[in-house]
Amino acid sequence: MGIRSVAVIGLGLIGGSLARDLAARGVRVLGYDRDPLHLQSALAAGILRKGLDDSLEGLAEAEIVVLAVPVSAAPDVLRRAEPWLDRARLVTDVGSTKQSTVAAAERLGIGNRFVGSHPLAGDHRSGWAASRTGLFSGARIFLCPAPSAHEEAVVLARDFWRSVGAIPEPLDADTHDRRLAWTSHLPQAVSTTLALVLADAGIERSQLGAAGREMTRVAGSSPEMWTAIALDNAAVLADAVAAVESRLRAFRRALGSSDAAGVHECFAGGQQWAARDRAD
Ligand code: NAD
Repeated sequence: MGIRSVAVIGLGLIGGSLARDLAARGVRVLGYDRDPLHLQSALAAGILRKGLDDSLEGLAEAEIVVLAVPVSAAPDVLRRAEPWLDRARLVTDVGSTKQSTVAAAERLGIGNRFVGSHPLAGDHRSGWAASRTGLFSGARIFLCPAPSAHEEAVVLARDFWRSVGAIPEPLDADTHDRRLAWTSHLPQAVSTTLALVLADAGIERSQLGAAGREMTRVAGSSPEMWTAIALDNAAVLADAVAAVESRLRAFRRALGSSDAAGVHECFAGGQQWAARDRAD
């Protein structure tokens, strides 16, 4: 890839893991986090060669700049970073929604070097303490170039993520956000809702069997991160949630009228859908 220095802004699970992988490959990693504890931990672990201060001035040394902050924070961080991006050949992010950050990059006049990224990696934990090497190995990553992105930036983004083991897949930001509302944001919303319902019923997670535990695992994810994602993709996510409400209403109706055929139809439909996944 020929890249010697990369700056990572946001040293939590995703940014911290990326910093670790890059440092292990001999890249000079610069880092910033608004939480001084995360920054200090990354420096103390020997992962960062340099910690940046709030001015973000040190970004001027980086060839690639990666934003790994909640999606609600990304536009403002980009705005603060912009004066120091003259040397950057690629600016990217890792946010779970893509349209708003891509649009912010275009507005700031850095769209030609901006390729949004979304790694399908990570879990319900957060912060520097949750970061680890190898997180991106074998993980799909959606790459969503800004409309004005130069080919060089797109190729560099692909090579950059491949260098940490990820498998890039191009996708436009609009399609990304519509698709992820169903494939990621809705499952999170359902898991969270299930956790809330169980809490209301006075049931502890430790009382659940394997299926219940599996379904509520991601309810333990960061509320800051998910509030930002849900609000950023609110319109499409609201449609997906409405579809769940409608299915649940039909299920409840069938239960209420002891409609065995209706109840069976629900379970059979679910089973048919699940059977199409050969991965299980
Ligand atoms: P995290 O909470 O572990 O880390 C976020 C870090 O950003 C924290 O260290 C926080 O202090 C820092 N931060 C917040 N606001 C900041 C600001 N204004 N300036 C500088 N630092 C700031 O979260 P994460 O899981 O690493 O998520 C980071 C991004 O990656 C999010 O946009 C999220 O949507 C995306 N993402 C997360 C996952 C996942 O499974 N966790 C997967 C794919 C993508």
